[in-house]
Amino acid sequence: MQEILEQALKEGRAQIEKGEVASYIPELAKADKNHLGICIFTKEGERFEAGDTQTRFSIQSISKVISLAMALEKCGFERVFEKIGMEPSGDAFNSLIKLDMVSDAPYNPMINSGAIAVTGFLTEVVSFETMLEFARKLCMDPQIEVNRAVFYSEMENLSRNRAIAYLLESKGVIKTNVESCLELYVQMCSLNVTAKSLAGLGLVLANGGMHPESGARLLDPDVVRIVKTIIFTCGMYDGSGEFAVSVGIPTKSGVGGGLLSVVNKKMGIGIYGPSLDKKGNSIAGRAALKYLSEHLGLHMFAS
Ligand code: GLN
Repeated sequence: MQEILEQALKEGRAQIEKGEVASYIPELAKADKNHLGICIFTKEGERFEAGDTQTRFSIQSISKVISLAMALEKCGFERVFEKIGMEPSGDAFNSLIKLDMVSDAPYNPMINSGAIAVTGFLTEVVSFETMLEFARKLCMDPQIEVNRAVFYSEMENLSRNRAIAYLLESKGVIKTNVESCLELYVQMCSLNVTAKSLAGLGLVLANGGMHPESGARLLDPDVVRIVKTIIFTCGMYDGSGEFAVSVGIPTKSGVGGGLLSVVNKKMGIGIYGPSLDKKGNSIAGRAALKYLSEHLGLHMFAS
C-alpha cells in the first residue's frame, strides 16, 4: 500500500504545474502550489500517509458536507430538500445564473447557493461553537480551528456570495438574518484541516456514521447515505460526471486544495494539493486519486 501511495504522489506531482492556486480569496493565493499530501485511513485501523499530510489549510467547500450532515440531523430531510434540489447543476460552484433564471431552489447543497441556503437553516438552530465541535468529531481532529486570516480575507471579498445570499432571501429560501448566515458560512469554510482530518471524515462516512475506534454513532445512517450520494453526484461541481466515470470514488473538493474521498465500507482518503484546475478542483489530487482508484480497485463500479 505504501508503495502505491508513494507512486500516486508522484503521479499527482507531475500535474501540479498545470494548475494554479485559488486567488479570488487573496489569503488562499499564499498557499505553496507544490504541496501535495495524501492520507488513507482504513476501517481496519491502518493509517497510510505520504507527502505534506501535516500542513493545515482551509477546508473551504468540503465544509458543505459537514453543514449538510448537521442540517439533516437537526432539521430533517423534508425541511432541507423542500427548498434545495439534489441535481448536479453543471455550472461553476459560485454561479447564480440558474438560481435566478431557471429555478427558485438551488440545484444542490454542494454548490455555494445550496450551501448558503443550508447555512440559513443552521443559523436558526445551532451556534458556530456547536458546528466547530461537530466538525472536530467527524474529522477525528480536536485541533481544528478557524483560520482567522482566511476568514477575514473571504469576508472582505464576499460580493458574489452576498449576491447569492440576498437572491436566496428574495426568493424566500433564506428567512433568517442574511449577514449572520454569511458569517457562519465563511467561518465553516475557514476551518483549518489537514489531509489527515479529511481522511478521518471520509472514514466516518465510509463507516456509516460510526466512529471507527470507539464505535460511537456520530451520524444517523440515513443522513450518511444521503450525504454520500450527493457527494458522488455533485461533489466536484461541473466536473462531477467526468470524475465519477474516470475515478469513481465519491469525492468533495474545496478551493483550499482539499479532497475528501469516501470508499464505502472500506476507507477514507484525504488529500491536500492547492494547485487547482479551471473548475476549482485539486489537479494533483485528482491525478493521485485516479492512480489509487486504478491500482487499488477503488472505482465504485470496478469489475
Ligand atoms: N469559500 C469558498 C466560496 O464560497 C468556497 C468555494 C469552494 O471551495 N469551491 O467561494
